[in-house]
Amino acid sequence: MLNGNLKVAVQKKGRLTDKSLQLLRSCGLDIEEYSERLIVTARNYELDILFLRDDDIPEYVQDGVADIGIVGYDVVKERNAEIEVLRHLGFGKCRLMMAIPEEQDIESVENLQGKRIATSFPAIVKEYLNANKIEAKVIEISGSVEIAPSLGVADLICDLVSTGNTLKLNKLKKTFTVFESDAVLIGNKNLNLDESKWKLLASLLTRIDSVLKARNSKYLMMNVPKENLDEIKNVLPSLKSPTIVPLADESMLAVHAVIPTDTFWQINEKLKSAGASGILLLAIENMIL
Ligand code: ATP
Ligand code: MG
Repeated sequence: MLNGNLKVAVQKKGRLTDKSLQLLRSCGLDIEEYSERLIVTARNYELDILFLRDDDIPEYVQDGVADIGIVGYDVVKERNAEIEVLRHLGFGKCRLMMAIPEEQDIESVENLQGKRIATSFPAIVKEYLNANKIEAKVIEISGSVEIAPSLGVADLICDLVSTGNTLKLNKLKKTFTVFESDAVLIGNKNLNLDESKWKLLASLLTRIDSVLKARNSKYLMMNVPKENLDEIKNVLPSLKSPTIVPLADESMLAVHAVIPTDTFWQINEKLKSAGASGILLLAIENMIL
């Protein structure tokens, strides 16, 4: 595999696999269906994808087996490898939370004193306990942490939660958050020493940035009465000055603007009360600024 291609480590089979590949495909990379193969080469970029277990990705990137990788920030923190976090990617969001049996209550971190905590993230939990000056026993369990309290192995658990449904099934409830995670792009610290790979990475990063930006933006189109244009402009959180187009009806204008996705529902009513009609909100595939 010493072909000079940029090597990207991606989780082989798990929660991050599809979204990681989707991101790379949105960057214009032509990647074939990977099925059971361990390495796949992009058809239109000097890039190989290595499919690995997520726990191994930080070390492989640290050791240069892969140049970059996509992995949960939780795993990066837990493994504490010598790597650089290049970008937060905004998917795979979850929280590492303390959870206790439903019938119990916990008021503050101090209540953890002397307790037994089962987790797959011993390093993160120990750091959290130290930071809060708590002495507790951390029991490392690699999977199905949520059954530890009912087996009497632990008093509470610290595990990844998104909806909390798994906890409920095991008669546990979430308490406080220890760590918030999303998927990150990590890189080998010496990558910029290799000029050709650095160029491949720099160009990939530009594409990733443009995809992330586009995912967070929408293209807004609407018709507005000419006399209300200033009012409409004041409401718009647009990234650049809006585009204004005359219409056949001379009392009206079409206004187009790129806005951050999460602001639309906050301004929608204000736009309407300023007379906006025919409001369309479109997805943007790519955005090069
Ligand atoms: P592997 O076989 O590769 O070791 P795994 O079972 O350790 O996989 P997954 O459960 O697929 O890992 O989780 C991968 C990553 O997805 C986690 O490190 C975390 O960042 C994120 N994640 C985990 N649980 C959730 C969840 N409930 N909701 C959203 N994201 C999650
Ligand atoms: Mg794993």
